[in-house]
Amino acid sequence: MEGRLEDHCNMNNGGITFVTSCTFSPKQRLAKSQRAKTFYGNSNNIGRQSSPAKLMFPGVITNNLFPLNMVSQGDHFHEECGVIGVWGIESAAKIAFYGLHALQHRGQEGAGITVVFNEKLYEYKNLGLVTEVFNDDILSELQGSAAIGHNRYSTSGEKSVRNVQPFTVELNGIQVSIAHNGNLTNANKIRSQLELRGSIFNTSSDTEVVLHLMATSLLASSCIEKNSQDALVRRLIDALSRVEGAYSILLLSPFGLVAVRDPLGFRPLVMGKMKDNSKNVIFASETCVFDLIGAEFVREVDPGEMIVVSKDGRIHSLFPFPSHTRKACIFEHIYFSRPSSIVFGRSVYMSRFRFGEILAEIAPVEADIVIPVPESGVPAALGYSAASGIPYQPGIMRSHYVGRTFIQPTQHIRDLSVRLKLSAVRSIIEHKRLVVVDDSIVRGTTSRKLVRMLRENGAKQVHVRIACPPITGSCYYGVDTPNTKELISHNMTNEEIRKYIDADSLAFLPLDQLHQFLGEESSSFCDACFSGNYPIPPLPVEDTTHDILSPML
Ligand code: SF4
Repeated sequence: MEGRLEDHCNMNNGGITFVTSCTFSPKQRLAKSQRAKTFYGNSNNIGRQSSPAKLMFPGVITNNLFPLNMVSQGDHFHEECGVIGVWGIESAAKIAFYGLHALQHRGQEGAGITVVFNEKLYEYKNLGLVTEVFNDDILSELQGSAAIGHNRYSTSGEKSVRNVQPFTVELNGIQVSIAHNGNLTNANKIRSQLELRGSIFNTSSDTEVVLHLMATSLLASSCIEKNSQDALVRRLIDALSRVEGAYSILLLSPFGLVAVRDPLGFRPLVMGKMKDNSKNVIFASETCVFDLIGAEFVREVDPGEMIVVSKDGRIHSLFPFPSHTRKACIFEHIYFSRPSSIVFGRSVYMSRFRFGEILAEIAPVEADIVIPVPESGVPAALGYSAASGIPYQPGIMRSHYVGRTFIQPTQHIRDLSVRLKLSAVRSIIEHKRLVVVDDSIVRGTTSRKLVRMLRENGAKQVHVRIACPPITGSCYYGVDTPNTKELISHNMTNEEIRKYIDADSLAFLPLDQLHQFLGEESSSFCDACFSGNYPIPPLPVEDTTHDILSPML
């Protein structure tokens, strides 16, 4: 498919120079290509010191269609984003690429990588999966030993290439690039206040608020060197002290790399290093990245911690924000994270296996086989089978080739959506009493279609077991959730849900059992979507009670 060329226009906005994009037809593209090269560089001058490019080369949109029919998404809470940061490793972009590949489950909308080379930042990003966005040629152009990368699933802002991270800007003369996992609960309010003061936003993402707050911060004025890592860190601390919500952020500049996690530690962020080189550091959303690239896990970035890696590889740890009780997202263990990851100090696989065991103990049933809803239901189904002694069988197969479809979402296609993704194995389930284990029920639509499909394939009984408590509220901390009113457990009792999905029996993991499983750590996990106990109350958009910004200069 013919791509579109993006000509980058610098937008100077009170100390922050953002890169915005304008679309050209193929004819205009030819006419403008020379100008684009002169002012902004292209893939041919990446990494060359003589390049006049102020900032990166543009991502070419290879396919600007976006999934109209979210067949692949199913009826789940959706992943947030994945981030990776690399410092001190040759071909850092390639490491970042593999890291993003390992984190693909956290976001499939778009991907991007920024590198530092010869004191300048260069980036490439686009809509699509990591393997669709990058190829060997592009990665070879992204030279340098420092990089950050981001996989996007939009929890804030519309689906557009302009919202794909990292965001790279020139901030009062310093190039910085930011990658963020999480959601800022007061971003709309800050944005309104900044706009009243004249800020012009280039994206609809909450992350851009952090860059504008850094640009307008007065804290750097006390630094002897205005263009330094110290000044940048002060700006970042000032900006983050004004935001609320969830953030695991990586900030790259020619001065170094900064990793920071919000004081409540909603989203994960871990630190590792390559085994064969002592002076390097890698930050990632999950430890599965280290498994793939052959790095070793060092430790978690603690909630509220800022780790500053300087140009020469020295590492400093700061805790610049008031401390809070940790509120790590329990949904990372229920659904988001990869089973092979260690998240918040616990094995994701073992958590899910135990959830299945608990379900077998509290909701036993006479059945012939236990089958998982693949793939996220597999560990819990294995746990249910182990605890109940009922044999485990893969009675539902998942298509790995559904991917993203570009079909208009007619009612007929919506009805087909579950069958496109999941198919029943008649030879396994026919004439059997089934225990079907899934990780969660959000709207209930998928469960209903699934039970119908199993019955059509000869199942004698269908007993549904859900390895998490009933979801009764939306998430405001970086997870894409439907409106509370659309959540089936907000609207129906468990018995009403059983009837709606037409199961012979239905059981959820009770919230008190989840707390019991977490033990002494229970209060350090967020469970707001089940309990309604929101650690940071959501802020109404129209709230203008007090000014969050620095005084005007
Ligand atoms: Fe995670 Fe639910 Fe809390 Fe959101 S509300 S952070 S999904 S536990």
